[in-house]
Amino acid sequence: MKRAIYPGSFDPITFGHLDIIKRASKLCDELIIGVLNNKQKNPLFSIDERVSMIKELTENLDNVKVRCFEGLLVDFAKKIDAQVIIRGLRAVTDFENEIQLAQSNKVQYPELETLFMTTSLKYSYLSSTVAKEFASYGGDISLFVPPQVIPLIEAKFNSKEK
Ligand code: ADP
Repeated sequence: MKRAIYPGSFDPITFGHLDIIKRASKLCDELIIGVLNNKQKNPLFSIDERVSMIKELTENLDNVKVRCFEGLLVDFAKKIDAQVIIRGLRAVTDFENEIQLAQSNKVQYPELETLFMTTSLKYSYLSSTVAKEFASYGGDISLFVPPQVIPLIEAKFNSKEK
């Protein structure tokens, strides 16, 4: 059985992430979305909020599961017995960082392969940061994140303004 991990911060999940999730889930038996609880970053959404948003949005995908993890991705991959890491590539700017990460993970855990999936053209500009930036100025984010996520982002920025 091929179990793959799609790791990331997902702060919050965007249409770009969902597109990769749907396409990657067709390539493996089981896809685990690994939501990183990174104590160094200061996320807009808590780990529980991020996990619950992703669970809701992927509940119709039978072979997709959502887990949170801390620390090294290779340790998480070993723990859940995953053989493949899925990462998305948008532009050449992603590449440098991603290849370094993939190669360091390979050195640490040679059995684990990283597969890169190219973004769908219509999401090639999209990141969680872009969605947050627009939302922080009251902009329209309906092309960036699923409808369920919109009120949650807006609530975060409204509460910050108070
Ligand atoms: P990280 O903090 O690890 O970069 P992200 O949540 O930003 O986590 O992204 C998780 C993964 O999804 C990364 O591999 C990233 O390149 C990919 N990704 C993010 N947005 C898109 C997009 N619009 N199209 C394709 N891949 C994407």
